Amino acid sequence: MQDQFLRQIDYLRISVTDRCNLRCKYCMPVEGIQWMPHDSILSFEEILRLMKISIQLGFRRFRITGGEPLVRKGILDFLREGAQLPGVEDLMLTTNGMLLPEMAFDLKAAGVHRVNISLDTMDPERFRDNARGGDVSSVIQGIFRSLEAGLNPVKINVVVVRGFNTDELPNFLTLAKQYPLHIRFIELMPIGISSEHRNDFVSIQEMKELLEIQEYHPTQDITGGGPAEYFRPNGFKGSIGFISAMSRHFCGTCNRVRLTADGKLRPCLHSKHEVDLRTSLRNGSTDAMILDRFAKAIWHKPAEHHMNDEAWQGERVMSQIGG
Ligand code: SAM
Ligand code: SF4
Repeated sequence: MQDQFLRQIDYLRISVTDRCNLRCKYCMPVEGIQWMPHDSILSFEEILRLMKISIQLGFRRFRITGGEPLVRKGILDFLREGAQLPGVEDLMLTTNGMLLPEMAFDLKAAGVHRVNISLDTMDPERFRDNARGGDVSSVIQGIFRSLEAGLNPVKINVVVVRGFNTDELPNFLTLAKQYPLHIRFIELMPIGISSEHRNDFVSIQEMKELLEIQEYHPTQDITGGGPAEYFRPNGFKGSIGFISAMSRHFCGTCNRVRLTADGKLRPCLHSKHEVDLRTSLRNGSTDAMILDRFAKAIWHKPAEHHMNDEAWQGERVMSQIGG
């Protein structure tokens, strides 16, 4: 459906858990976060009901995220059911990749079309330091298992942070050259813990300078419909893309809304405004009543975010919203 600014909203990002097997520095505070109580998290049946309602509103694309979606018990059965819902054209997953070595083929068999895998560094020590645990070799193995399984395209999310991984950008370029991987360099957003680290921000402009590519030829052939701008330098099997939520925001073409693990519909990632659908799901509301609340939330999606204001600070951390 369209919102009041005539944007076509057809993409729902669903966080299925706030729990995670990593603790990335830019996403979670060192002391961790207070997990949501189990009974406040939507059951898979509740999520499937909301997916069906959203399909009636014209949603066709669904991304499952978290926290780490692959740590939730029963995720494969849920994905299998979700993939079979009439109207689901694209079922995607965003994951830190730790569990992909053993799960990539099962995800494909369940009906997942494609995956975005987060990999900010290929250096084992740095990885462990940034993620406060984990093993980069599992993620890298998971990336290649995903390619073998036929998940397509496989995109790699690289959040660029000053003093952490700026020197590794050329290594990611090599990865995109040698393999059919689509590397997306992402500007750090001042959400939750990251709002205290605005100086670590690296703009897309600066990333392009660090990559030292002389000419960028935009390419349209990467499935997405999202905010990334993609380029395929000559001789590359994959591509590189840039997501600039801060320096050149893409609110005017935003096509998505988010559902948090505790059942709040969030029309804008960066606005605190949320619509509580969990209560509606649990108080006997009919599908028609929930559809009406859903549609109103979309209609009132804000025109744009205000993250560039110094005073802006998100109230939830990224792992609670789903990125
Ligand atoms: N755990 C999964 C993962 O890491 O891919 C899915 C959830 S994670 C919150 C989704 C994405 O958000 C990841 O690619 C992560 O790097 C990104 N992210 C987290 N905090 C961020 C921030 N402050 N700015 C930009 N991206 C961020
Ligand atoms: Fe977990 Fe993803 Fe956040 Fe890292 S970015 S702590 S993997 S939710």
